[in-house]
Amino acid sequence: MTSPVWHPFTQHGLQEPIPLVERGEGAFLYTADGRRIIDAISSWWVTTHGHAHPRIMAAIREQTEKLDQVIFAGWTHEPAETLALGLRAIMPDALTRVFFSDSGSTSVEVALKMALGYWMARDEARDRIIVMEHSYHGDTIGTMSVGERGVFNRAYEPLLFDVTRVPFPAAGCEQATFDALEAACDSRAAAFIVEPLVLGAGGMMMYPPEVLAGMRAICAKAGVLFIADEVMTGWGRTGTLLACEQAGVVPDILCLSKGLTGGAMPLAVTMASEPVFEAHYSTDRSKMFFHSSSYTANPIACAAAVANLAIWHDEPVMERVTALAAAQQRHLDRLAATHDIRNVRRCGTIAAFDCAGGEGYLSDFAPRLLARFREAGVLLRPLGDTVYVMPPYCIDTPTLDEVWSVIADAIA
Ligand SMILES: *Cc1c(COP(=O)(O)O)cnc(C)c1O
Repeated sequence: MTSPVWHPFTQHGLQEPIPLVERGEGAFLYTADGRRIIDAISSWWVTTHGHAHPRIMAAIREQTEKLDQVIFAGWTHEPAETLALGLRAIMPDALTRVFFSDSGSTSVEVALKMALGYWMARDEARDRIIVMEHSYHGDTIGTMSVGERGVFNRAYEPLLFDVTRVPFPAAGCEQATFDALEAACDSRAAAFIVEPLVLGAGGMMMYPPEVLAGMRAICAKAGVLFIADEVMTGWGRTGTLLACEQAGVVPDILCLSKGLTGGAMPLAVTMASEPVFEAHYSTDRSKMFFHSSSYTANPIACAAAVANLAIWHDEPVMERVTALAAAQQRHLDRLAATHDIRNVRRCGTIAAFDCAGGEGYLSDFAPRLLARFREAGVLLRPLGDTVYVMPPYCIDTPTLDEVWSVIADAIA
């Protein structure tokens, strides 16, 4: 019988092979038909330290002996408490509150709801969200609304709410972004949501820390809440724990997910500043924050995240990140010298370039490349014409060399 599974972002009509993965270890995945695949995109940007990190796996096993799940409205548990304190210790001081959810999308939905709740509590009619062109914040109705519109969400357009867009700060055009943001920060503006330094799904588009700092300053001056969606950029990807750090930026609201559990379990947090929390703080039940999902702060996922924090504390994660970033740059330079590639760019461990000859997101260019990579035993998933490499930090030199040599062969 054919599989009844309906896969995400998959056109089943094309009958492309869907490998069955049995096991993961470090930078490798192992398929049922005995192949070893290099996971060069960290399983869609979640796996930071490598697959099945022993400490995270042990923490999950231990937690399953104690508590699987408990309602989080009005109840709490040790893994969530420990994790929240751990996050407070390493995240910016001003982010005093930790709200749990279970995916990047929900962490963004929560951030948007917190922002609207903040203004409602202050009796100010601010309900407009400002966003950046080409952004991606998730696939739920709310997060699609604040993301780039296109073929991905055309059918759902009637459900999406209206936002104000500022242009992407392309090199040389930063002032246009600042001007548009300043104009957008009017008396109706509630919040600006942005992916710091790297727009991931938008095509690994990068902009420098000074621009992030400039945008933050404009919002601060206008009193508009600044939401940093670090779902992809967080946990070392851009060379620092948070991308915001490089700009000296502290957001009012911060979204974290993907690397929060090292990529092992679904979990997210939305961290908020004290004023955002205080706006919901009252003896009046009608002013509480109205959001929950069944698995909010699932204890097993929280235990995995506590283990992730311990790894960041005990292992030389930042050294790995720095070494990987340098190696990525060497590979980019070498490829650019020998192949016809464009817009070569890197931010921390994320390396990207555009292929000459690609023709947009839905052309068969990316799927053809993807198939070549898959045959060569490397998991890469180009975004339209953009090829990027974003491996787990544990990847060793020969394995990374293999990834780039497969890329060089495929695009030749
Ligand atoms: C992946 C991503 C999301 C959505 O996270 P999910 O866990 O897939 O819901 C949101 N924002 C950014 C920047 C992302 O990269």
